[in-house]
Parts: sequence; C-alpha cells; structure tokens
Amino acid sequence: MPKIYLLDVTNRDGVQTAKLGLSKLEKTLINIYLNEMGVFQSEYGFPTTRHESLYLRANLELAEMGVLKPIRLEGWIRAIVADVETAFKRVPAIKHLNLSISTSDQMIDGKFQGRKTKQDIINDMTGAVDAAWAHGAETVAVNAEDASRSELDYLIKFGLAAKEHGAVRLRYCDTLGYDNPFTIYETTRALAEKVGIPVELHCHGDLGMAVANSIAGAKGVIDGGQDAYINTTINGIGERAGNADLVATVLAVTKSKGFAEKYQFGNHVDLSKAWKIARFASYAFNVPIPINQTGVGANAFAHESGIHADGVLKDPENYELYGFEELGRGEPEKVETGREISAGEYSGISGFSHIMGQMAVHFESKDETNQILELVRYANVESHKPLVEDELLFIAKYPQIARKLLTLNPLNWVK
Ligand SMILES: [Zn+2]
Repeated sequence: MPKIYLLDVTNRDGVQTAKLGLSKLEKTLINIYLNEMGVFQSEYGFPTTRHESLYLRANLELAEMGVLKPIRLEGWIRAIVADVETAFKRVPAIKHLNLSISTSDQMIDGKFQGRKTKQDIINDMTGAVDAAWAHGAETVAVNAEDASRSELDYLIKFGLAAKEHGAVRLRYCDTLGYDNPFTIYETTRALAEKVGIPVELHCHGDLGMAVANSIAGAKGVIDGGQDAYINTTINGIGERAGNADLVATVLAVTKSKGFAEKYQFGNHVDLSKAWKIARFASYAFNVPIPINQTGVGANAFAHESGIHADGVLKDPENYELYGFEELGRGEPEKVETGREISAGEYSGISGFSHIMGQMAVHFESKDETNQILELVRYANVESHKPLVEDELLFIAKYPQIARKLLTLNPLNWVK
C-alpha cells in the first residue's frame, strides 16, 4: 500500500509571504523541529538567492554532522537551466531540488505573454531536470504551478516528460486554492495512474479547504497506486490565505473518520512536537496563533458551557476527539513576573552569563563567553527580538555554524 509523507514548505512558501519573514537562525531551528517531528523533507530555501546561500550551506553541514537527519533538505528554484546552474554555484553540495514552472494556459499566456508555447514549457523543465542530474543532484522533483487550472491531458504529458528524464515526483500545485476535495481527488488519481510516479499535493486556503484538499488529494494519489507527499506549513502560514497547516494535516490524516484505516504515514510522525513547533513559528513570524486554531489554539481544549463542561469532566471523549497531551500540551510554563534579564544586541557579559547559567550552560573561559555573546548580539540584530532558549543553546553548541548563519556579506557576492 502506498503511503503519505510530509513535505513542509514553511521555509519557502511561508517566508515568501507578504509582510512576513524569518531570520536564518529561525529557519534553522524550524528545520531542527521539523526533523524531530518526523517530517520527511523541508523545502528549506532558495538556492539562487544570494542572502540564502550561507544559511543553506550551513544547514547542509548540520545534515552532515547528523543534527539534521534523516530529514531531507531541498531547495526550490525555477525549472530553467540557468537557475540550476546558479543553485549549484551558490550551494554546491545541494542534494535535493524542486523545479517549478507554470502549466496553466492562464499563466503561460499571462506570464510569458506569447514568448513560450506549451512545448517550450516542457522543454525548459526537462532541460532543467537534466542539468540538475548532471550537477550531481540526488533527487529532482518537478512542480506544475497552477496545476488545478491546467488541462489534465497537458499535465499528464508534462508529468510523463518529467518521469522520462528521471524526476522522482510531480508536485500538483493548487496555487490559487481553486480545487475542492472532489475535484482534486479525481485529478490526482488520474495523474498517479497515468504518470506513474509519486505526486505531491500543494494546497492553498483561498476557499478554506487547504487541509481537506490535501487529504482528498492524497487519497486520490494512493488510490492511483502512488505515494503521496503533502506540502504543509507551520500554522498554515503561506501566500495569501496560506497553506495546509502542518498540525491540522497530521490530525486529519490520523484522526478523521475512517481515513487512517487505509491511508497512513510512511514514517513515524511525532504529534507531541506540535505545541512546540507551532509556538515557535508564531513567535518567529510574529503572528499570534488564533484562539480557535486546530489543536494548538488557546480554545482547542477549553470548555465553559454547562453541558460541555459537565460532559468533558465525566469523559473527555464526550467532547474531545483527541487528548491535549498528544500534542505536547499540558506542561506548566514558566512566565517571569519579576526581574528579567534578556539578551539583545547591546547585552554585556554579566547579564548574558546569568541567562546562560539559568539554563545550566557554563563556559570554559571569559574568551569563550565573549565569543558566544558576540554571536547572540548578531542574532538579535537580525531577529529584533529576544532569542528563545533553543536559539541560545544552538549558538552555544554550534558556534561555527551560527557564525555562518549570521554572515550576510553583500560586499562579497558570489556571481
Ligand atoms: Zn504555494
């Protein structure tokens, strides 16, 4: 039986969202949390973008060191040869790539304005796939942008051409959130059957159906005989109305009526990391978690009305589908209500040693303390807010990696 895998795109779709962004250290922490949670692959950035290259390389080093393992780190670029060449120039060790190009008449006509035919699109894509293999990629997948508004026959032709050139997956992008669970099921099932390679589901929430479409699409792909890869983002943060929320997707696959009897994850997904990852992304993006957000909202396990409170006290299953403990909730949290010392870009050694001491981190020498403090100051310059414990611990544990994450040098551009 084919399986479902998670491919999180927070560090690509999430950060390209209007008005939102993450520091390179925050992106790195997200990769670490995704790995802990059992997410199969992180679309971790843009290998053609100059300011990403040191972050992308540093995260590949963390993979080499076994810190980011077994998660796959994959870069997202356009499906043109020039982008592939630039990607390997800026991030030579990149192993996994997704190559994206528009496949709908609307976008081919609307974006290229008559400069490209539909055959040109296929030629660009296969040329890019060939180039990626030639540069030593380990996996190459292709993305059909605006697939939900593309002709099915053309999508099949596009997918078969990708397969012929060795692409490992076809990403079905419902770029505008246009599908519904019934249409996406039919289309993705046909794609899986006729193209014969695993299919990714990339769904958006413009009509409020991103998670529903993702699991309906996954069902279509699996019924068509292939593995399904659901694209998610943490807290659903993504272009416009956002993407399929990671935690809600895990819950929909594992808890919705009868679904998991036949459709299951291909590897262990640790739901107990849900609370931590959602909270961190909320802090890092500076976007509050809505009170009614699935699983992690403040009201997700709150009961007040007489009938509900009485019912849930007698037996939680009266009014709860799953327990809060399963999502890693319920631990008491320490909130400082008195004197507080925080670390910022102008912090000194005494305050910093105090903070690290509270986390039982002690340094060998004053020199070492000063070096770590200097990195913490730089991290603050980029994030403009106090670092969380895990960020401070990361810097203390991997100072050489942190140094790379914090290096932005527009005076020394790689061409
Ligand atoms: Zn998207």
